[in-house]
Amino acid sequence: MRKEIFIIGNWKCNPLKLAQAQNLYRSIVSGLRKEAKENRTKQHSFKTKNKKRARIVICPPFVYINDLVTLNKKLGADLEFGAQNCFWEESGAYTGEISPKMVKSLGCRYVIIGHSERRLYFNETNEIINKKLKISLQAGLIPILCIGENKKDEETGKTEEVLKVQLQEGLRGFENEKLAKNLIIAYEPVWAIGTGNFCDPEKTSKVLYFIKQRINTKVLYGGSVNSKIAGEYLKVGFDGLLVGGASLKVKEFIKIIKNV
Ligand code: PEP
Repeated sequence: MRKEIFIIGNWKCNPLKLAQAQNLYRSIVSGLRKEAKENRTKQHSFKTKNKKRARIVICPPFVYINDLVTLNKKLGADLEFGAQNCFWEESGAYTGEISPKMVKSLGCRYVIIGHSERRLYFNETNEIINKKLKISLQAGLIPILCIGENKKDEETGKTEEVLKVQLQEGLRGFENEKLAKNLIIAYEPVWAIGTGNFCDPEKTSKVLYFIKQRINTKVLYGGSVNSKIAGEYLKVGFDGLLVGGASLKVKEFIKIIKNV
């Protein structure tokens, strides 16, 4: 059976207008179709260089999800959708929050939890992340749990120590086997995100081994991925990529997908 891989595009807080989001989405779909035609396959069932099947997931800002899901149907495309975050309660008096049930009902299958930008700018702790993971799973979403060390931790050789705590506390109370089926982990060194300094694939392979020893689930790499380096992470055993900045550049995003 062909191995399934994930290419997840995190649009972060971009673009500024709905029309721009729709145009971006349309361009991705037509770019993929063009490539797929050359590959003699259809839409998102994209055959990559390694003859793996790539599931392509777009994570736009909340406000665009509904329109893009509708557009997806209209175009007859079947890319998948994820949210970039969600709240840890199902509903109630929590002004401004968005619950995982809402995310699910919009047509999302995935939700990113614990992205380093949320840990950094919104003080998300492992405890909060644990609550978000639980409620997301209950809502039937597949969480993409982001873990990663910062520059200082990396320089002082504390990467594994940091990841161990993030996994232990983030996944507290979960049964490994059940969880493995319903969770994706994204290893994203904080110092590599948005900096252009991707982590050397050789180095990430040790981290991948460390994570897989603890939880047998799909693990993605994220952090300044570009089309030239993308394939290397798959070669060392990652199950896909979480792509930030490059997912907003249509040609580059398509090239990344093609090159894995
Ligand atoms: C991210 O936002 O998860 C990410 C990996 O960003 P970038 O690719 O821009 O480093």
